[in-house]
Amino acid sequence: EVQFGAASKANLKVVVRVRPKNQREEDKGARCVVDILDKHMLVFDPKEDAGDGFFFKGTKQRCRDLSKRQPLEKKFVFEHVFGEQATNEELFEVTAHPLVDTLLQGYNCSVFAYGATGAGKTFTMLGRPECPGITSLTLQELYQRLDELKGQKRCEVAVSYLEVYNETVRDLLGTGKPLALQEMGQQVMVPGLSLHKPGNAEELLDMLAQGNSNRTQHATDANAESSRSHAVFQIFVRQQDLEASAKATVTISKLSMIDLAGSERGAATGFRGVRFKEGSSINKSLLALGNCINALADGQRHIPYRDSKLTRLLKDSLGGNCRSVMIAAMSPASTSFEDTYNTLRYAERAKTI
Ligand code: ADP
Ligand code: MG
Repeated sequence: EVQFGAASKANLKVVVRVRPKNQREEDKGARCVVDILDKHMLVFDPKEDAGDGFFFKGTKQRCRDLSKRQPLEKKFVFEHVFGEQATNEELFEVTAHPLVDTLLQGYNCSVFAYGATGAGKTFTMLGRPECPGITSLTLQELYQRLDELKGQKRCEVAVSYLEVYNETVRDLLGTGKPLALQEMGQQVMVPGLSLHKPGNAEELLDMLAQGNSNRTQHATDANAESSRSHAVFQIFVRQQDLEASAKATVTISKLSMIDLAGSERGAATGFRGVRFKEGSSINKSLLALGNCINALADGQRHIPYRDSKLTRLLKDSLGGNCRSVMIAAMSPASTSFEDTYNTLRYAERAKTI
């Protein structure tokens, strides 16, 4: 893996997480369209296996049902592919854990959960009390590391939680009033955003749950749990040398953990009126993120961060010397065929950064 140092190159690790089929998918008799071959490779839309009509007594049938389309059998390779057995701890080990070091070395970094509504983004980031998500696992690890650094450095940690909804930034742990973004050189700030210092894991979990319940949510035709907002949890670390010298350096770095809005197309969820506007502006932020990823992947000099609130907010956490991880979440069920295929293609593109 690329080590940071002189070279200033964007660095994005892409992993895929395929969740278990849910009851609704089972009830519909959905088949599995993702076949995980090993921890790096999967086949999307594999050939149906024995018992499904393509094989008969161990030999391939000569007359295929012509009404059936040919499976795509498309192979995808990623840094890691997690199947339905994977735990949030395992996800953490590969995704956010390595970023704790990067953060302590003074670099900004980010973790994105991308995917359609219901694909498992929030489960991965927040989890449940019995299986905490990678956000709290990260903070736990960070606290432990800072404990070890106690004699060497003065360190402070603060966290914030905001959402970008309809191109408006709101504090999920504050007044809920719209907030403006401010750029100071390479840094992006959100004046008025509340900063918090959860004392322990429990406090943090309460905070996350409270913030999450403040996310703008609407039931849509597609999914009652649908979320149209991007939730951004940020961990700020301020480090100062203990030297008595007046010139003791201060380093501030941040880790952004982003639960992106559903990537499904607005049209498919049946938005009308206001709902349509919501859908289209979420597409705007996701589209802008996609364009930035494309530009970074192509090594372009101009990255179109300015095109949306989300990309402006993440300007200092995505390109340059930053390290990012994208977790592409998906359902294995044939009922989510299009969403899963789109997510895989998006992730495939991101991989080339
Ligand atoms: P999203 O945030 O992408 O819309 P969620 O994370 O809310 O999706 O997941 C949708 C549902 O599926 C939730 O009830 C969640 O608990 C469940 N779920 C998602 N991923 C998993 C998983 N890996 N294992 C078990 N249940 C999961
Ligand atoms: Mg969610």
